Amino acid sequence: MADLPISKEAIREQFGPHLKFDPPGGWDAAAAAPDQLVKTHCCFCGQGCGIQLKVKDNQVIGFEPWEDFPFNEGKLCPKGVKRYMQGSHPDRLLYPLENKKGVGYERVSWDAAYERTVSAIRDIQAKHGKDAFAVLSGVSLSNEKSYLIGKFARVALQTKNLDYNGRLCMVSAGTGNKKAFGVDRAANSWADILETDLILCAGTNISECSPITTDYIWKARDRGAKLIVVDPRITPIARTADLILPVRPGTDSHLFNTILNLMIQDGKIDHDFIREHTNGFEEVLNAVAGYTPEECEKVTGVPAKSIRLAAKWWGEAKKSFLLHARGIEHHTKGVDNVLSCINLVLATGRIGRAGCGYATITGQGNGQGGREHGHKCDQLPGNRDITNPEHRKFIADVWGIDEKDLPGKGLSAQEIMNAIHAGEIKGLLLICFNPAVSLPDSLFTEEALKKLEFFVVIDFFMSESARFADLVLPGSLHEEDEGTATTAEGRVIRIRQAVTPPGEAKIDWHIFCEIAKRLGKGKYFPYNESEDIFNELRVASRGSTVDYYGITYEKIEKNKGIFWPCPTLDHPGTPRLFEGGKFAHPDGKAKFNPVVYRPSADEINAEYPIYLTTGRVIFHYLSGTQTRRIGFLTEECPEPYLELHPALAEKYRIAEADIVRITSRRSSIELKAKIVKTIRPDTVFIPYHWPDKQSANRLTQRALDPLSKIPEFKFSAVNIQRVDPQQGAAHAKR
Ligand code: SF4
Repeated sequence: MADLPISKEAIREQFGPHLKFDPPGGWDAAAAAPDQLVKTHCCFCGQGCGIQLKVKDNQVIGFEPWEDFPFNEGKLCPKGVKRYMQGSHPDRLLYPLENKKGVGYERVSWDAAYERTVSAIRDIQAKHGKDAFAVLSGVSLSNEKSYLIGKFARVALQTKNLDYNGRLCMVSAGTGNKKAFGVDRAANSWADILETDLILCAGTNISECSPITTDYIWKARDRGAKLIVVDPRITPIARTADLILPVRPGTDSHLFNTILNLMIQDGKIDHDFIREHTNGFEEVLNAVAGYTPEECEKVTGVPAKSIRLAAKWWGEAKKSFLLHARGIEHHTKGVDNVLSCINLVLATGRIGRAGCGYATITGQGNGQGGREHGHKCDQLPGNRDITNPEHRKFIADVWGIDEKDLPGKGLSAQEIMNAIHAGEIKGLLLICFNPAVSLPDSLFTEEALKKLEFFVVIDFFMSESARFADLVLPGSLHEEDEGTATTAEGRVIRIRQAVTPPGEAKIDWHIFCEIAKRLGKGKYFPYNESEDIFNELRVASRGSTVDYYGITYEKIEKNKGIFWPCPTLDHPGTPRLFEGGKFAHPDGKAKFNPVVYRPSADEINAEYPIYLTTGRVIFHYLSGTQTRRIGFLTEECPEPYLELHPALAEKYRIAEADIVRITSRRSSIELKAKIVKTIRPDTVFIPYHWPDKQSANRLTQRALDPLSKIPEFKFSAVNIQRVDPQQGAAHAKR
C-alpha cells in the first residue's frame, strides 16, 4: 500500500490542489489508515477498470490500484482516480424531498414519499391506461438493477413504456451486431488487440473516452501494428496513427463502402470464408459497386489516395482488429454505418481468431449488461425479443405471470419524451438518467418534463432533470450495493459494497421492491439480497444468446470476471466469439447487409453552413452529474467550449477565447472559442457534459435512426458568430 498522507498539505496534494470541500470523512479520517480495502470497479465508463477503495468509518476515503485485475492492471484515468470523492460530497441526497408548489423542496418521510408515488401511479393508470406511466432508467446501474427495473415496469406497473439511457449510447452497434452476427457483444476480448497487425478505429476518441484501451493499442503498435483512424477530429489517438481519414460528419458509410469496393476490385477478399461462413455477399457486392474513391473524396472530404491506401492495408493485412464507437453510431444512419464497418470485417474473414476481431466500445459503465437484461423497450432478459411469442412465454414463466399480462414493445427514450410532450404519457419514474442534459433538443425536453402530472426521480445527486420532479428519492451510489456489471469486452465483473448509503438514502432495488409491494405485487419481488436477483437473472438468460446461467458471484470473484456466454456451471466463459466461423444466427452463418449511403437529417445550407459534432472530454462523464462535482475534474475542464479550425476562425474573425454564438435550427448557445488545427475546417466540436445555457444539446436534433432509435448527436447544421466584446463580458459573469 502506498504511504498515507500525513499532513493537510499532503492530503490536499492527493485530493487535488483545488479541493472544494473537505475530504471524505474529514481531514483526520483521510490521514488515518483505512479499515479495509475493497476490490471493486470504477463506476464510470464501460471499461470497468478494477480499483481498490479505501474505506474508513463507513466512508470511502481514497483508493489503491488493483494491479492484478487483468484488464487495467492498476491503471486508471483521471475520472477513476477521483471517483471516490463523490460519496461524501455535500450535495449527496440524504432524504426524500417533495416539491411543494410555491415552497420548493421539503424533506418528507419515506412512508409519505412511497404513498404519494403509489397513489399517483394508480390515479394516472386508472385515468389514462397502464402505458400512460413510463419508466426511464440508466446503465450506470448494475445487471441486477437493470433486470429488476425491467421486471418492475412490466410486472408491477404493467407498462410497455420502459427504456434507458443506453438508447443514447450503444443501440446502433447492438442492432448492427444482431443483424450481422446474431448476437450483441464485442466479438473479442481486448487481449486480441495485442496480437493484431492492423487496427482501424472509426469514430472513437479512444484516448479520452476509453483511455485504458489506448494501452492495448500502443502495445500492439510496439509489436509493429499499423493504425488507421477515421474521425473528423485529429483526436489524441489519431495523432499517433499511420493513416488518418478525416471524414466529414455523417459520411462514414460512403467511406466504408468505397474501401470495400476497392478491396473487391483488387481481389483482396476471402472468398472461402465468405462462401462457407456468411450469407448475403452478392447483395453487398452489388450495393458497393458504384462507390469510387473520387466520388468518395467529394462526399467525405477524405483524399482519394488515402482511401486507396486504407483499402490496400485493410485488404492485405494478415491480422486486423476494427473498433468503433459513438462517432459512427450517433446518426440517423448509425446502424448503416455499423453494418458497413462489419462488411469490411466479414469480407476478409478476419474474425474469431487470435489477433483478428471486431469490437464496438461500450461507453457507459454497464452499457453492455444494461442492454442485455431487459430495461430496453423492445427486449426481455437474455436479449430476448419482446415480440417473439416463445421468448415472451419463457420470461413470463420465469416471472410466474401469464404471458398475456406481459406488455408488448414500448416507446424508446426519445419517443417517450415526445409522448410526454404530446400529453400522451402523464407520469414518469426516472432513475440514474439525466434527460434534461442528455437528450437532444434540450429546451424541448424541459418543456416536456414540466408537463408531467407526476414525476418521481431516484438518484444520489439533484440532477438537472430532478429539478422538474414532484418527488426526489435518495438512491444508492455504485459503492453502496453488491452486484455485477458487464464490461465493453463482455466480461461480467463483481461490484462490491464498500459502504452503506448515508442518511436515509436507500439501496435502489429496495425502493423498487417497496413500491411493488405497495402496489400489491410484492410476491413477484421476494429478494433478500442482490445475489437473489442475479440468480433469477441467470435463469432468465438461460438458453439465450446472452447466457449467464453458468456465472455465479463466487466464480466471478475467483476468476476476476467471466465472459458470457457461459451456459453451464463448469463452463469457463467465452472471451472470443465466433471461433471456427460459427456465428449466432440459427444457420451458424454471419450476414452481410447492403448499405446505401444517404444524407443526414439536418441540412447544411447557406444559413447553417457548418457541421457541428459533439462528444466527451477525458475529465467528465456523460451529463456531468458526478464529475462536475469533483473539484480536480472541474478545475481541469471547467466549462464547455467551441473547438474550431484556424481557417474557420479567420473566416468568422474569431480569436482564441472570444465568445461565439452557435445557432442551430433548435436554439443558440454562447461559448468560448478554442482554436485548434486538429479538426476539419468545415466542422466544429462541443463537449456535451454541461446543462442549460452551456448545453450542446440545446443545438442537437431529435431525428432518430429508424432501427436503433438513437438520436443524431454527431451531426447538426449550425452557424457561428463572434459575440460583441461587451456581451462577451456579460457571458464571463454568468
Ligand atoms: Fe477506467 Fe473508464 Fe473508470 Fe477511466 S472512467 S478509470 S477508463 S473505467
